[in-house]
Amino acid sequence: MNLSKSLYIRGIQCKKSLWLKKYRPELLTPPDAQAQAKFETGSQVGELALKLFSGGVMIPYSETTFNEKIELTKKYIAEGMSNIYEASFVYDGVFLMIDILHINDDGSMEIYEVKSSTEVKEVYLHDASIQYYVLNGLGFDVKRANIIHINNKYIREDELDVEKLFIVVDVTEEIKAMQNDISVYLKTFEQTLNDRDREPDVPIGPQCTNPYDCDAIEYCWRDVPDYSIFNISRLKTTKKFELYHNGIVHFHQLEDIYSFSLSQQIQITSELEQKETIDKDAIKEFLDTLTYPVYHLDFETFQQAIPEWKGVSPYMQIPFQYSIHIDYGDGRLEHREFLAQDGKDPRYELAKSLANDIPDNVTVLAYNAGFEKGVIQKLADQFSEFSLHLMSVYDNIKDLMIPFQKTHYYVPAMKGSYSIKYVLPAIVPEMQKAYEELSLVHHGGEAMQAFANLSKMDSETKEKYRKALLEYCKLDTLAMVKVLEKLQSI
Ligand code: SF4
Repeated sequence: MNLSKSLYIRGIQCKKSLWLKKYRPELLTPPDAQAQAKFETGSQVGELALKLFSGGVMIPYSETTFNEKIELTKKYIAEGMSNIYEASFVYDGVFLMIDILHINDDGSMEIYEVKSSTEVKEVYLHDASIQYYVLNGLGFDVKRANIIHINNKYIREDELDVEKLFIVVDVTEEIKAMQNDISVYLKTFEQTLNDRDREPDVPIGPQCTNPYDCDAIEYCWRDVPDYSIFNISRLKTTKKFELYHNGIVHFHQLEDIYSFSLSQQIQITSELEQKETIDKDAIKEFLDTLTYPVYHLDFETFQQAIPEWKGVSPYMQIPFQYSIHIDYGDGRLEHREFLAQDGKDPRYELAKSLANDIPDNVTVLAYNAGFEKGVIQKLADQFSEFSLHLMSVYDNIKDLMIPFQKTHYYVPAMKGSYSIKYVLPAIVPEMQKAYEELSLVHHGGEAMQAFANLSKMDSETKEKYRKALLEYCKLDTLAMVKVLEKLQSI
């Protein structure tokens, strides 16, 4: 057997996934731009964490074979190096690289596994436990195993404080308790991989998305229709698979509809009878809370694992753009927008512009308003000169999502979702076409990527992307205007 640490983790999630990765990788979905960006973040965080253990030596990843990595590691240990980055070992068919290996004066070792997340997840214990297993098996004295993760409470001052950015968690006891299971896992993986010609018979299940979204979903879920019982809103995963394993995939196969919640019943019966559900009174009640002019607001944001600017926390939503459509309620519309310059902290200029664009006593409408409120609150906390005004905007925010979230307005095409991605094409189909016709930026993820990459673009490309960002965000608030019009027309 020849397993890397990542294949070991893959095998624990699902042995079929391990087999597919080894023998039928062409069936797996390649990582998308978002996954790539996450990978790059992980590399940056890993590199920064090395500063916690200065003066170490790196085992180079490229231009060395596995054997050379192992030999180099042996050499550095023999030379008495106290910190080795990407220290490489093989034992019992498992090859792995340890992010940071610290060697004490008495020769005992400490393992440090670096993660870009903000907590210790259960799967990380498997990461650390296999490292402990390998080192222990090779006869090393492992004193401690640790997970290093990002501290999301950290707020950057003028300088980045690496000691405060990271939290080191000792997981030695937990992973020692996991050691007996490892040989059982390895035996199972060996049996699975020995049978090269037979794909393991593993049914789809909660493991397909836990702890990671499996890259074989497209392949293994090919017989599950696009819209099925798996799309029943807020239905527990265990219940979904219970239904599935009883042969129930389609809505028409459901027997006891009354065992579902009221909103689930609305979704199911709407689909079966292809009928709309519209609670006019509830919608009117919502509309009565709005006064004109209505300021439709939408932010675009990005996050940084390693805060670049003073006052920023890891993974804080940093707004770089907004669009506002001012809807006077008599057919008149006015548009305002802001898009930050790239390469510098966008927050002050954005806060100033926002305070200028939205008066403090008007109705502000956002879709999924908790997000916009969170962004405004942080801006108010950071910039005291705008804080009174921004908090008044905050207090005036209403959520356009409410009528859909509460199923006051439901049509089958929403497919159990109240996200704008489903609501908009379902009730204002012409707007969907407008999104498809956008160039370069079509959704929030692309907007975030585009803004993050602006600094690396030549001026002509940058101009195109800036224009595309403005067009995209403008369409988002125009879409909200159309959704509100639709509610009013009921
Ligand atoms: S999609 Fe599910 S069943 Fe298929 S390999 Fe992945 S985890 Fe296993």
